[in-house]
Amino acid sequence: MAELISMDADGTLQVPDEPVIPFIEGDGTGVDIWPAAKLVLDAAAAKHGKSVAWKEVLAGQKAFDETGNWLPDETVEAFRTHLIGIKGPLTTPIGGGIRSLNVALRQILDLYVCLRPVRWFTGVPSPVRHPEKVDMVIFRENTEDIYAGLEAEAGSPEAAKLSAFLRDQMGWDIREGSGIGIKPVSEFGSKRLIRASIEYALRHGRKSVTMVHKGNIQKFTEGAFRNWGYELVRDEFAESAVGWDDCDGKPGDRLLVKDAIADITLQQVLTRPDEFDVIATTNLNGDYLSDALAAQVGGIGIAPGANINYVTGHGIFEATHGTAPKYAGMDKVNPGSVLLSGVLMYEHLGWQEAADDIVRALEATIADKVVTYDFARQMEGATEVKCSEFAAAVVDRL
Ligand code: NAP
Repeated sequence: MAELISMDADGTLQVPDEPVIPFIEGDGTGVDIWPAAKLVLDAAAAKHGKSVAWKEVLAGQKAFDETGNWLPDETVEAFRTHLIGIKGPLTTPIGGGIRSLNVALRQILDLYVCLRPVRWFTGVPSPVRHPEKVDMVIFRENTEDIYAGLEAEAGSPEAAKLSAFLRDQMGWDIREGSGIGIKPVSEFGSKRLIRASIEYALRHGRKSVTMVHKGNIQKFTEGAFRNWGYELVRDEFAESAVGWDDCDGKPGDRLLVKDAIADITLQQVLTRPDEFDVIATTNLNGDYLSDALAAQVGGIGIAPGANINYVTGHGIFEATHGTAPKYAGMDKVNPGSVLLSGVLMYEHLGWQEAADDIVRALEATIADKVVTYDFARQMEGATEVKCSEFAAAVVDRL
């Protein structure tokens, strides 16, 4: 019988064998990739005596066409009530009231962690020589930093007012004709993000957490993020984790928490990827880093993601690419991103065996060189298949 997922007082998710999970099909290629991903997700769950009662909810173009609203209240309510959901890509309406539906959902449900695991799947074409060394999990802060949207346009009355205030009250001279952005980074926001990354690292037996920041320049935002992180380790994780400075880089059997400046990190994830494991970082750094890393392991077509609030239990798992409108409805693109987001969701629900089966079957399919156009164009001797055929090939190998 279909039942709701719930959360215990201690924060553990209670997942029935047939949970109701809302999904947004997504705009553009959503019509191609969602049915393909669902085919594989259903088959893997069934192998382990589980099934998902999928509940379609609307957002984006489909919602606008049917209801006149880009993000209907019922959709937000469904995610609120059911705790866990999944979505395909959404068009960002141009000239509409909402800047980005994805950002709106994250803000409304306060999904403060953007979780992006980045690992290589055997056989996936990669521009680097040792993609197998890339196995990182990015925790990107999702609610603060310049993404808070606090900006005043150059030449606007708001910018003039802000400029005058900063000059008169703070003695800061802002060049005339400047746009001004505000970058809030709070102790609360930083600590809850870093806490989630440490708990994840401990739960999954990872070897380190690296806090990536630009604290050498932005001392009271990025630098504070780092300092609050080390404080958190001392205050809340003294038994299980230790900061680099407190152990001289020798953590013993505890989890090592270290930090790195953002610019050098972007070099080192390329040159020494095996030195990075879990990464905790501020919003903008996380944006750059997750795309740069995704490129190393095969790109946007297979990069999964999730937005999670570990305190309320809410999580929305999502394809990280956009709607690729030029391919919409052609049954062509790679369903890997939304499929692997589903895998991440199964892991989050504790359905590890079903998740592992999908990964194995996906790797076997790619090893047989049965792939969609994006991989086929980079592989010698590949058999190019449609999106739906790729999904069927993965199911065959489950
Ligand atoms: P995009 O849709 O991500 O597409 C850019 C390129 O990425 C495509 O042309 C294609 O490359 C490749 N690609 C995307 N999805 C793929 C897949 N499933 N398999 C293989 N390759 C894939 O980015 P965009 O064209 O900049 O954005 C289009 C719309 O999506 C915009 O409205 C944007 O706002 C929205 N968007 C939504 C999200 C989201 O919902 N999370 C994220 C980003 C953008 P090739 O041309 O090389 O084949």
